[in-house]
Amino acid sequence: MQCYLCQSSQFFTRKGAVRDAPNMQILECEDCGLVMLHDQAHIHDGFYENSGMHGSDPIPMEAWLSETDWDDQRRFEMVKAILPNKRLLDFGCGAGGFLRKAQRLAAEVVGVELEIRVQDYWADQLKIAPSLDAVGGGYDLITAFHVVEHLQNPRDIISDLGKLLKPEGRLIVEVPSADDVLLTLYDCDAFQRFTYWSQHLFLFNASTLSLLAKRAGLKVVAIQHYQRYSLANHLHWLSQGKPGGHQRWNFLDTIELSHAYAHVLASLGKTDTLVAHLEPTSTV
Ligand SMILES: [Zn+2]
Repeated sequence: MQCYLCQSSQFFTRKGAVRDAPNMQILECEDCGLVMLHDQAHIHDGFYENSGMHGSDPIPMEAWLSETDWDDQRRFEMVKAILPNKRLLDFGCGAGGFLRKAQRLAAEVVGVELEIRVQDYWADQLKIAPSLDAVGGGYDLITAFHVVEHLQNPRDIISDLGKLLKPEGRLIVEVPSADDVLLTLYDCDAFQRFTYWSQHLFLFNASTLSLLAKRAGLKVVAIQHYQRYSLANHLHWLSQGKPGGHQRWNFLDTIELSHAYAHVLASLGKTDTLVAHLEPTSTV
């Protein structure tokens, strides 16, 4: 086996287990730091199209939209200043909540989502295509929120997305971070048996996300460290070994404490989320 990014054949095995495939190894490249599952064969053709991402009992669309609303709103806030009168493509748009919010400001919004029921749900309200082949080009902004880590060939997809941008356009890629503090500092055993998922084929840190973008022929403008989960969530993991602390112990999460904690984690490069801002290179 070779590293997808640097072709090294030297790997560490990471601690922990893939929660839905406990026998699968979690490998970390000794040379570039890319984290990957040692096997990708379980993601078969038609897996995402038929709601396989949700397991045997897919969450209803309304509940899915409600569950993701806080992330959708955060992402909308992140880009709303650059949306007015622009053309937006959201690649891997999930339930479509972000697109619905962005539609208020943008000149045009288009989604790409493999999952067939999402296309059907929004049929009269949002343009959601099943693949990049059907969306044209010339976008001012393309977003890909928590989708690149699912892709078997993320370099080629990011390269394809770059070609759909206007020359001065921007591609924003958000992924979970392989350097999450619960993994790389707190060494939280319960979290290491929870967070890895068979659908996350790759996990990136700031360095490997940057390398991926460059290999895809894009210019890296910035890689931001963003913390989605709170101090209460982390203390709950360390104390109780379970998720949900940001709800159960939310009295701990004052605005001041949340900002300070997120700021410290960002300065250490150990947030749970990375946001890459990418642009076409002048030769593209
Ligand atoms: Zn590597």
